[in-house]
Amino acid sequence: MKVAYLVIGAGFTGAVLAERIARELDKRVLVVDRRRHIGGNAYDYYDEHGVLVHKYGPHIFHTNSKKVWEYLSLFTEWRPYYHRVHAVIEGKEVPVPFNLDSVRLLFPPRLAERLQEKLIQAFGYGARVPVLRLREVEDPDLRFLADYVYKYVFEGYTQKQWGFRPEELDPSVTARVPVVVGRDDRYFQDTYQAMPKHGYTKLFEKMLSHPNIKLLLGTDWKEVEDVVKCDRLIFTGPIDEFFDYMYGRLPYRSLHFRFLHYTVRQYQSVGQINYPNEHPFTRITEFKHLTGQVHLGTTVVVEYPADYAPDQNDPYYPVPRRENQERYVLYAREAAKLRTVIFAGRLADYRYYNMDQAVARALKLFAEVIARDA
Ligand code: FAD
Ligand code: UDP
Repeated sequence: MKVAYLVIGAGFTGAVLAERIARELDKRVLVVDRRRHIGGNAYDYYDEHGVLVHKYGPHIFHTNSKKVWEYLSLFTEWRPYYHRVHAVIEGKEVPVPFNLDSVRLLFPPRLAERLQEKLIQAFGYGARVPVLRLREVEDPDLRFLADYVYKYVFEGYTQKQWGFRPEELDPSVTARVPVVVGRDDRYFQDTYQAMPKHGYTKLFEKMLSHPNIKLLLGTDWKEVEDVVKCDRLIFTGPIDEFFDYMYGRLPYRSLHFRFLHYTVRQYQSVGQINYPNEHPFTRITEFKHLTGQVHLGTTVVVEYPADYAPDQNDPYYPVPRRENQERYVLYAREAAKLRTVIFAGRLADYRYYNMDQAVARALKLFAEVIARDA
């Protein structure tokens, strides 16, 4: 069998590229995914109770890119949604990102006021300060606060999530959730924040519905490698796997998801509650907050971080550490030698992309490489 374009992976990266090639170049594309569904990690479905859930953990869409927003809007309507997260700290539920209200809720009034004033003085109202930066302050009160936030918000959570302490990871990891010198309690600050009105899977169905696109699900790349010939291969799976681990395995972090259904309308006060300090899990997310679904019951997902064990669980997170990046570069060099193969996506680029970054990467790749070469 021969196709013009073979895309491995039906997540955001693969789906965007397939859609662009099919529509803009009017070329035929075969999309192969080893899972039995489209959507990659963003896949959602109605569980046995009729609640819309995300199979691979909660996915909240947010972007500053007008281009990405307008592109995805071709395939879905949106439900405006601002994600709000609380963390349980010393028995209290406080906003995360840690902000001036978190300070007020956790400390006695006079101390809280002093800390709030000093934060504003040091960084300016509205500033967003990564915890590792906050720990560099010299003022004893702010130093106390920095150590407190480090210990109660980041240390335990990060150790559970990654198996490393915050300073052992690239600083960009904990900088995703900075301390906010203000009262904005939204988890994200992006211009566009919304959920696909009818879910992610519906968005993917529309994206992949072009007659030039054929889907082959439940099939691994290895099974088609020798059978399907193509002019161009686009690979969105793990890059180390593609090269048979010739430079050793790239580490990934995995998760075990536990879904629980309750016959109450609402289980928790906000979409997500983090448990940095106790329990083996990191967070509990209640889908109805995200989706706005009206239902007599509710389903939550509890996330238990785990080491990635090939063939036993999935590689969800590349682990942003210098030594891993160095190993990735060895694979990237091999990739650059292959003229007809393109690597892209969270697993193939070994980058901690959010959904919008995966879409932006795919759109750029299409415009700057694939369309030009066609
Ligand atoms: P994927 O979605 O991983 O798709 C890759 C696909 O390739 C998979 O379907 C896989 O089965 C297939 N594949 C791999 N290898 C092979 C092979 N050998 N043969 C055949 N098929 C193969 N982003 C946000 O913006 N907001 C969020 O709230 C958010 N929450 C997240 C929560 C969790 C728990 C996780 C893990 C990720 C989250 N993300 C979030 C990130 C988001 O999932 C990714 O940005 C996005 O899925 C990347 O798309 P992708 O196509 O690159 O990769
Ligand atoms: N983090 C933390 N405590 C929290 C929230 C986040 O320590 O309450 C750290 C942790 O290291 C986490 C990282 O910040 O992995 C990024 O958090 P984010 O919510 O962006 O993670 P994701 O949704 O990608 O799993």
